[in-house]
Amino acid sequence: MIQTSPDQFVKGILDGNRRMIAKTITLMESSLAEHQKTASMVMEQILPHTGNSIRVGITGVPGVGKSTFIENLGIFLADKGHKVAVLAVDPSSRRSGGSILGDKTRMEKLSVHENAFIRPSPAGGLLGGVAAKTREIMVVCEAAGFDVILVETVGVGQSETSVASMVDFFLVLMIAGAGDELQGIKKGVLELADGIVINKADGDNLKAVEKAKRELKTAMHFIRPESPAWPIPVLTCSSIVQDGTSKIWDTILDHHKIFKASGEFLQRRKKQSLEWMWTLVEEGLKHRFQNNEKINEKIPFVSQQVENEKMSPSAGAEKLLSYL
Ligand code: GDP
Repeated sequence: MIQTSPDQFVKGILDGNRRMIAKTITLMESSLAEHQKTASMVMEQILPHTGNSIRVGITGVPGVGKSTFIENLGIFLADKGHKVAVLAVDPSSRRSGGSILGDKTRMEKLSVHENAFIRPSPAGGLLGGVAAKTREIMVVCEAAGFDVILVETVGVGQSETSVASMVDFFLVLMIAGAGDELQGIKKGVLELADGIVINKADGDNLKAVEKAKRELKTAMHFIRPESPAWPIPVLTCSSIVQDGTSKIWDTILDHHKIFKASGEFLQRRKKQSLEWMWTLVEEGLKHRFQNNEKINEKIPFVSQQVENEKMSPSAGAEKLLSYL
């Protein structure tokens, strides 16, 4: 088999060649050391060509209408001439079919649009690994000329925090249910939001949606926005009556404009790059710890000492760390 050189990968990506983009992503997702080495050489070379996109994170509990919403927004943007990449972060995913996020069959029309590229979540593993891969895939898409990156995640666990820390605008999708609208919402998620959308604002839902909107607006008064220049907007949307998509995109653009002008856009990206670096440092340390022969040799003994209360847990940890 003829090997593809890093330069060929880079050229393919910069030319926007779909096959090469997919091939690069596969390379990045591989755990083989040789693939990782080539991948990092490619990353270094494409980095100067990245960063020129609007990165939008989208979250919401299963059934809230994420894939329908993303398909509509994606088509709306792709029809306007934007190049749209849809990525997903789902730590529970397995290639064998466990994952539903970013699945092409969920976005049939968008997946065949010439201006769109859809990639499911990197295969299962720890959230840190899945998120790091998604960041790299995002960078590849940007270098390939995609100017809007939509990152979908499930509304459970830490994946929301992780996606919020890689995007310029974090959108939380909700639905108005019967009863107390706010009950099911985690305060932490609202704190991450740059915008909230109450979805399925159609038919019999309309009254409940208006009520939820009022309640949410009140609730948001108690949450300090990241920037005083951006009180978190609460919008509504329906994918059925095709209402709300353009307003939501305008809101994202407004945010972009305001944050760019104030310097907060760049500041946020810089902060995110540093966070990413530290996440990688943590993972690297963990990897080194787990693969350190001396440590692996000592673990049974130290564990036994701690179990039998001959050594305190902190002394045990210190002891193992001292071999690093
Ligand atoms: P996801 O699990 O969050 O990705 O949700 P889906 O996009 O798969 O949608 C879940 C269900 O809600 C599907 O049956 C959709 O047809 C329906 N749905 C999605 N958007 C809307 C909407 O705007 N209004 C209404 N009434 N139903 C919707």
